[in-house]
Amino acid sequence: MKQWRVLLFLLLLLPAQGLFAQRCISQELLEQHLQRYPAAQTERLRLEDFTRQWTEAAPTSIGFRNVVVIPVVFHVVWNLPQDNISDAQIQSQLIAINKDFRLLNNLNGLIPNIFQPLAADMELTFCLAQRAPDGSTTTGVVRTTTSLPFIGDRIANGRKSVCHTADGGSDSWPTDRYVNIWVGRRQFFPAEASFPGAAVPGEDGIIIDPRFIGTIGTAAANQPYHLGRTLTHEMGHFFNLYHLWGPGQPGGCIQSDQVADTPLQSKTYLGECPSHPQFTCGTTDMFMNFMNYTDDACMAMFSLGQKVRVLAAIAGSRPGLLLSDGCMPAVSTTDPAPEHSIRVVGNPAGGGEIRLQMQGLNGRALHWRLFGLTGILLRQGRLTGAEETAVDVAGMPAGAYVLQVSDTALHLNQKILLLH
Ligand SMILES: [Zn+2]
Repeated sequence: MKQWRVLLFLLLLLPAQGLFAQRCISQELLEQHLQRYPAAQTERLRLEDFTRQWTEAAPTSIGFRNVVVIPVVFHVVWNLPQDNISDAQIQSQLIAINKDFRLLNNLNGLIPNIFQPLAADMELTFCLAQRAPDGSTTTGVVRTTTSLPFIGDRIANGRKSVCHTADGGSDSWPTDRYVNIWVGRRQFFPAEASFPGAAVPGEDGIIIDPRFIGTIGTAAANQPYHLGRTLTHEMGHFFNLYHLWGPGQPGGCIQSDQVADTPLQSKTYLGECPSHPQFTCGTTDMFMNFMNYTDDACMAMFSLGQKVRVLAAIAGSRPGLLLSDGCMPAVSTTDPAPEHSIRVVGNPAGGGEIRLQMQGLNGRALHWRLFGLTGILLRQGRLTGAEETAVDVAGMPAGAYVLQVSDTALHLNQKILLLH
């Protein structure tokens, strides 16, 4: 109870320090959620346990992977016309986050030599949803006007208003299949994200002030937060990453972010663009990590340890995102039948093998690969392209996988479920 009072006090105090006194409020909200819902505490401990086991089992070199694409939907909920940000501004955000997650920003100059071997290509990308929950075509952007100012951090009747149509916001799309990103003007902190296993149903996702979305339009005037890295940072929380100073308030050098290759750190680097090296806690700080409060232009990397933690969070808590068809174009009944196809017979499969029916592939020298949900290659072999054939999955644990059949000219992916 005492902790709860301290937290409330902090929440009341922080806005009084000025507008946007910190970059995000995700960890404080996590703490608040765990105090309010003890069952979430159990789920968080289970996920932490799963993550530990997964990390120990993860190969040091992850090797050939299938890059995972995760669908996102933006709910733009606006009161002021300038907050109805353009599709182009949202597109600029997608480009920015995908470059950050794939380590494609040529930011080597910002990453000192000692940290360069730790910089991770997260092998995750995000698409604007092309298929809505009902199967129809979508742009991945839902626009709603609201009469409520500061809808982005409004709480009414214990609910986050922006997440509910009935409260002046926009209802979530199924949170197990889409990452919901609500864009609404905020009064106190620019952004928040729900950690895995710690969200109220219908409110699982990320909320960001429109001035912090993307790299053009209203974001361009919002330096030093004009490069789309608020979403990169919040997506880190959404996939279970803590700030580098640990889960609580900064200082003390006793809290770990539960990632082995990020040094202990006691500062937030809010409003700073420091030069290397910076020391706290007796070690060199990785202040250019996306999970700090450093200015956008001075953030540059996730670490390999953070990558493993993110992949574990997806496998252990958000696997539905990998099975989602939200990134695929909507199916039209007038579309011609595909020239090439594979079909798993009797999916979900059982009995140690998957039987495949293939069309249009006869005579081709094909390669099959079986991936886990986080894209790790588990097994592979060759196929002749005969109309019906089998691939050996004996000994594979029950669960969901992606089967890829490919040659130099085509790649066909099929999600499968193994049962025993
Ligand atoms: Zn944060």
